[in-house]
Amino acid sequence: MLITPHAMTGAALSVSFASPFVGIILAFASHYLLDAIPSWDVGMGTARDLSILFADAMFTIAALTYALRRTSNVVKMRIWAGAVVALLPDILSQSLLLAGLRHDLFVLHLHQYLQAPAPLVVSLTSQVFLSIIVLMYLTKRIKRIMATPPSSHINTIVFREGQRR
Ligand SMILES: [Zn+2]
Repeated sequence: MLITPHAMTGAALSVSFASPFVGIILAFASHYLLDAIPSWDVGMGTARDLSILFADAMFTIAALTYALRRTSNVVKMRIWAGAVVALLPDILSQSLLLAGLRHDLFVLHLHQYLQAPAPLVVSLTSQVFLSIIVLMYLTKRIKRIMATPPSSHINTIVFREGQRR
């Protein structure tokens, strides 16, 4: 799966629960859930692959930067952390592969095991669709959080009360 749907899902999950820790753990877990959906994936072998990956990463950074333009630093940190954590399995396995290192980590074996290919058009359409839906949800969520006092952006109890209002 591409960078954008993973990062957007992680970003959204990071601010969907009162506790930032729950959000971050679920952001990490979401990578495996999304990878379990058969999808078209970019390799890393050709210049074309690398340009797709670069464009994908740049789009994610631009979209998140724009979505976060009016948020507090705490919310920015939560969301960026969620996006990065949701990409960790890919970052880890690709860096180990590039470094030519053998790895026996269970999380990486599981990551490899879950992935299955899907036709490009179907998969790309669903990935774009998923990214748009999640980005819309994230934007709504950010607005809601920003309507609560800044002290509640990290504090779970106040954050919950703010949501009820
Ligand atoms: Zn992956």
